Amino acid sequence: MLSDQLASQIAAGEVVERPFSVVKELVENSIDAGATAINVDIRGGGRELIQVADNGSGIPAGEVEVAFLRHATSKLQSASDLESIATLGFRGEALAAIAAVSQITVVSRAAGEAAGSRIVLDGGRLVDRQSAGAPAGTVISVENLFHNIPARLKFLKTPATEKRHIDEFITRFALAYPAVRFRLTHDGRLTFQTAGSGDRADVLAAVYGPETVRQLLPVAGDDPDEHRSEFAVSGYASEPGLTYANRNHIDLFVNGRYIRDNRLTYAVVQAYHTLIPNGRYPLALVFIQTPLEQVDVNVHPTKVEVRFRDEGAVFSAVQRAVRQAVVGAAPVRDLGAWSPPESMATWAGERPRPVIAGRGDQPQPGPFWQPDEALLDRDQTGATARQATAEAELQLPIMRVIGQVGAAYIVAEGPDGLYLIDQHAAHERVLFEQFMAQRRADKVVSQGLIAGAAVHLTPTQATLLDEHLGLLGGLGFEIEPFGPNTVVVRAVPAILTKTDPSQALQRVLADLENEDSPLQEELEAVVVRRVCKAAAIKAGQTLSRTEMESLIAQLEACDVPHTCPHGRPTLIHLSAQLLARQFGRS
Ligand code: ADP
Ligand code: MG
Repeated sequence: MLSDQLASQIAAGEVVERPFSVVKELVENSIDAGATAINVDIRGGGRELIQVADNGSGIPAGEVEVAFLRHATSKLQSASDLESIATLGFRGEALAAIAAVSQITVVSRAAGEAAGSRIVLDGGRLVDRQSAGAPAGTVISVENLFHNIPARLKFLKTPATEKRHIDEFITRFALAYPAVRFRLTHDGRLTFQTAGSGDRADVLAAVYGPETVRQLLPVAGDDPDEHRSEFAVSGYASEPGLTYANRNHIDLFVNGRYIRDNRLTYAVVQAYHTLIPNGRYPLALVFIQTPLEQVDVNVHPTKVEVRFRDEGAVFSAVQRAVRQAVVGAAPVRDLGAWSPPESMATWAGERPRPVIAGRGDQPQPGPFWQPDEALLDRDQTGATARQATAEAELQLPIMRVIGQVGAAYIVAEGPDGLYLIDQHAAHERVLFEQFMAQRRADKVVSQGLIAGAAVHLTPTQATLLDEHLGLLGGLGFEIEPFGPNTVVVRAVPAILTKTDPSQALQRVLADLENEDSPLQEELEAVVVRRVCKAAAIKAGQTLSRTEMESLIAQLEACDVPHTCPHGRPTLIHLSAQLLARQFGRS
């Protein structure tokens, strides 16, 4: 037989995986208690202290201890209640689970009761109980999380990582509950707060900053009556011009509950089909309102997965609503004076390209040039064999510029046939090698900005920035704090002088968010690659002959001229022999 205490520690593992799970459960309880103001104070990334204070209904004096028993909930009365759950909690597990693995103090007074109570538990055992004067509401302080489970402690990520997850959760709650006033501090520093005005646009501005909010489109889904759909979808979706490298900015909520659902995330991505490049993802907040009995929230202890009775219907409701928002807003392009918009240029720069040597990538049709697959296939085999030969083969031959195609590729002739050079990828390579050489010599050139650029960051980005300030400094960024979640960029790596510094910084942070290598060197390379990408000539930019010649001369001087820093090819070689074969001459 497991001892009671061990059994509850094991059960706790399912609910309380990490500090942010504690924050999530406590905030859910506050919301269920009808709180309109919730203060969250964190110390040491949640390991030292997680305190959640609310002005909700409070816990009646007679129930405070009971609330910590396993399976004690005031939210369900009978099994049939499980069919239609209106509260965020219902399993009665969280408080017991948290108590089992921490030291916990609760001070609570129920509205209408004269005195409050204060109880202290350690590892789930009651240590102290008193009546106490307290404002109506509940304050729960969780200290020394996992102090009695060393194995779990070992697996905790750095405080900065935990902090980031906590920030993410709090911002999601704030977005789902705009009428609740949230306030979050880390180690005594206020990092996020909302006004509780009830207007979601206010929360959006607090989370993403006005610049990003300007690029969001309202999603107004099916009117449940009109379309006989039971699912109302609302929220915000980014304009196609605002994309990210990962899906992390797609947040889904069902009846006020944040959920993770790969299929629905895919429905959102699908809604942008052909509007944004492959491999890029939008920002979207999707709120789905369904009749309670249409959704089963009792799937997993953490309650972030749900099951829909009619999954297909939800999928199409979401996809349709987002698509409508995005397509309805897409500007009509003036075909006469068309020039590729920024997003398109990035697209051309980022999509996988036809390959020169035996890499696995499949060529994909792009906006500028359509490769002949058969021709490429043959060249690939030839190229693989060639690549295997000598080091010298890594060098590029001297090339003569013929011209530019599609404002994206340079056509050049070499001693053995024709070369098509991707101007963006080639320039990225050139800049990357120059930058890395500067870095090795400890001579990165930084350029001060006359008027520093103010950049608004999400709490997550702010934390990341904090974490990597030193690294960015070594690479030429000079950044100073400027109010909560806002920084001023005072200087940038010199090659970035002509680009938007705030956008460059945002992209760098997005990349860092994706990179989980603990190696400083790798992180540095991530930043340098991003900086070079931002500074490089874009597809869509017409180049003069001199510019093309200079770019090719610089590429010829590179150590690894055949690929861009992201590993994609910078050029395609069509050998004289291949051309002859294609024309039936040999
Ligand atoms: P659940 O939320 O699933 O009911 P919990 O273990 O999270 O289970 O909480 C147990 C009970 O404690 C809740 O049902 C509720 O009655 C009470 N409770 C917890 N936190 C609060 C709070 N902040 N305000 C009021 N009551 C609370
Ligand atoms: Mg709960």
